[in-house]
Amino acid sequence: MVAVGILFLLCGVGYGKYIYDGGSSVWLGWEMASESEAGSQASDTNGLTVGALHDVQEGNVEESTQTGGSIGADGDSAENQSGSEEESTSGSGDESDASESGSGDESDASESGSGDESDVSESGSGDESGAIKSGSGSSDLSEDTEITLVMIGDMLMHTSVVNSGEQGDGSYNYDHLFANVADRIASADIAIVNQETIMGGDDRGFSGYPTFNSPTALADAEAAVGFDVILHGTNHALDKGASGVLNCINYWETNYPDIAYLGINKSQEAQDTYIYVYEQDGISIAILNYTYGTNGISTPADQPYLVNYLEEDKVVSDIERAHELADFVIVCPHWGTEYNLGTDSSQAKWTQIFLEAGVDLVIGTHPHVIEPVEWVTDDEGNEMLVYYSLGNFVNGTSSSGSGVTSRMVGGMAEVTIGVENGEVVILEYDAIPLVCHIASGSDFTVYYLSDYTEELAQENRIVSQDAEFSLAKCWEVVEEVWGE
Ligand SMILES: [Zn+2]
Repeated sequence: MVAVGILFLLCGVGYGKYIYDGGSSVWLGWEMASESEAGSQASDTNGLTVGALHDVQEGNVEESTQTGGSIGADGDSAENQSGSEEESTSGSGDESDASESGSGDESDASESGSGDESDVSESGSGDESGAIKSGSGSSDLSEDTEITLVMIGDMLMHTSVVNSGEQGDGSYNYDHLFANVADRIASADIAIVNQETIMGGDDRGFSGYPTFNSPTALADAEAAVGFDVILHGTNHALDKGASGVLNCINYWETNYPDIAYLGINKSQEAQDTYIYVYEQDGISIAILNYTYGTNGISTPADQPYLVNYLEEDKVVSDIERAHELADFVIVCPHWGTEYNLGTDSSQAKWTQIFLEAGVDLVIGTHPHVIEPVEWVTDDEGNEMLVYYSLGNFVNGTSSSGSGVTSRMVGGMAEVTIGVENGEVVILEYDAIPLVCHIASGSDFTVYYLSDYTEELAQENRIVSQDAEFSLAKCWEVVEEVWGE
């Protein structure tokens, strides 16, 4: 197996993120980091260099035999799916079969594909203070280690959500959206959010459905509450074109270099080589993000790399590389059918692909309603936990009618990853019901459904669009999809 040299990016903090060259087994160190823009890596956006880091690269370049992999530039290929997205006026959230969920318990340990590269190799760049870290290798993993991960669903920034952040002085602030669930986000080792809508540049003005542009103040709020990973691989990634993607990347890199953004890329090299890996206590966890399409908006012919699409060759190749780098692999697909409380055939197809590729955990988004949580197993006994959809975190849909209630009910995935019999596995998992409370100003927020009251429910402005909305109705949706 390959000896993978791994470098602590944030020495002393206890975790790091690194990049790997898919085409070869050579550690590319900082060179790749800078050119390929890992969200949190050395950002050189717009000439903003990370001084020392940038210099370090020279030494490494020589050693990198090749960059980039075999991944075909996709881009339009995955465009074909339907995908209008939200506001389909009908409001009939056709619920199909809700299969059972396994929330609430711990249970079976799934396999992780790790095992191989254990040895510590040198990284080429000798200087950065940093520790050279070993790859995975389970030999010295402690069974006491617990890594907590939380993820929330869609930040679907309809106009009413955008307006809720307006301050008296013309600025925007969105801390209120997270205020009631900040405890788990802040305390998790890895907190992930699905940023459904692009933050394509404040100077172009904000917009809601159908081509969204959301304030960068939302990014500030996400950073403030403690998100570590932002998923941008959504069907709205190209709502403001290539410049929207690049502006968004620039905002993250410039202001929050320690936060990883996934699903969008600023170069072909970045798309081909960047794999996000979280490292803690000797355990490494890779996270990948793809979307089924971008609402019929294609990437420009000369920038096919802007968005990660669910294209089988690329996805499988990325998962293989992720296994080389990490003990545990998570895929966050943007998939499924809107307003469907069950699952669909494309999710079944992709679930099988992920399972066969050895993925450990799948957490999906896009349907704007919650969908089942289940373990899937292959013939060889490999297990994978799948949250098909976490629903909306926030939205301000203008739809009305029966079924709209289900768009107000979201979920927070909470997963504890640790070691059992030398393997990195899921120790515990849960799906925590949430409810989006539509109001004006900073009263617009999200509650744990267990904290919600009927009095609050009747103040939720969604009542005027779906008279069935009530605390009990929200719990009915949860029970239908996730069981008691
Ligand atoms: Zn979507």
